[in-house]
Amino acid sequence: MSMIDIKSMTLQEITEACRQMGEPAFRGKQIFVWLHKGVTSFDEMSNLSKALREKLKERYVITVPTIARKQVSKLDGTIKYLWELDDGNCIETVLMQYHHGNTVCISSQVGCRMGCAFCASTIAGKVRDLQPSEMVNQVLFTQLDSGLEISNIVLMGIGEPMDNRDNVMRFLELINHPDGMNIGMRHISLSTCGVVPGIDALADCGLQLTLSVSLHAPDSETRSRIMPVNKAYDVEELFAACHRYFQKTGRRISFEYAMIDGVNDNDWQADLIAKRIHGMPGHVNLIPLNDVVESPFKPSKRIAAFQKRLESHGITATVRRSLGGDIDASCGQLRRKAMEEGGALHT
Ligand code: SAH
Repeated sequence: MSMIDIKSMTLQEITEACRQMGEPAFRGKQIFVWLHKGVTSFDEMSNLSKALREKLKERYVITVPTIARKQVSKLDGTIKYLWELDDGNCIETVLMQYHHGNTVCISSQVGCRMGCAFCASTIAGKVRDLQPSEMVNQVLFTQLDSGLEISNIVLMGIGEPMDNRDNVMRFLELINHPDGMNIGMRHISLSTCGVVPGIDALADCGLQLTLSVSLHAPDSETRSRIMPVNKAYDVEELFAACHRYFQKTGRRISFEYAMIDGVNDNDWQADLIAKRIHGMPGHVNLIPLNDVVESPFKPSKRIAAFQKRLESHGITATVRRSLGGDIDASCGQLRRKAMEEGGALHT
């Protein structure tokens, strides 16, 4: 019998499992609370009998990541973790300290299969999906190791959350639970490269989280060139889904836009973004492109002009402040570096 990942189970599921073992229902909550406090073994669950702890050990495992590398920025205190998972795979998490609270950027997959041409995370493809517990652990163990209380989560690390939707939805339920880390949905952002069925499914859930859409080009030709997902879900379909999302949830969408020299930084593209957003309150987040050695794309020099152009159409546009510039803190760079250097990292 294969072992079950107990930290990926909901409170109801653990309670039901306890009932089946002849235990009272409140044991479920006790176990859930321990797991989400970050215990690494059943023996630490001191309010359970030894007999129950032994029974749990026979059927269940507690996933625990170990720190493979940790880098702390001297510039702004940003911390980047490279975690080694139980099967030897490695994932990245970044902790950023903002005035409005400490934010973790977590990964949703080991690698990514979306193939965006400017992104380091996708170069070696996808290895596997992350389990809900492995996403919880990034938040939990980042908080425990850093001693900094996490108030916000962005699903903007390695991987495409909508390509691992069931596990991501379960993660959201776990991390939001009052007996777990209790992080409010309004403090969570989920970023997608534009997987339309995922956007519709999210709209149906009515969660109060913030949806970010990685737009990067408003015209089909450019977008297909830099983002293969556009060939499956064209930018027109994508905006139709965004408008549906707004109509259903009333929530403003944030559009991510990495500025690439000569590719997506023309005024006509700003005009087209405004046209496509028209009818809903969108916010465009302009990101200075991170130079990825393997990529032919270079950072744009027109960010301020592009921002002005968007604003002239009444679109709110901000330029993302870059943190952790001295520690490979962006977009799969640490994992790639570790992979290139070899060592104990499986991919
Ligand atoms: N797969 C999801 C979330 C992970 S990527 C998504 O695509 O939204 C997080 C963000 O970083 C995305 O907006 C992505 O397009 C952006 N990104 C990737 N590589 C980048 C680079 N070299 N410079 C700037 N932003 C980049």
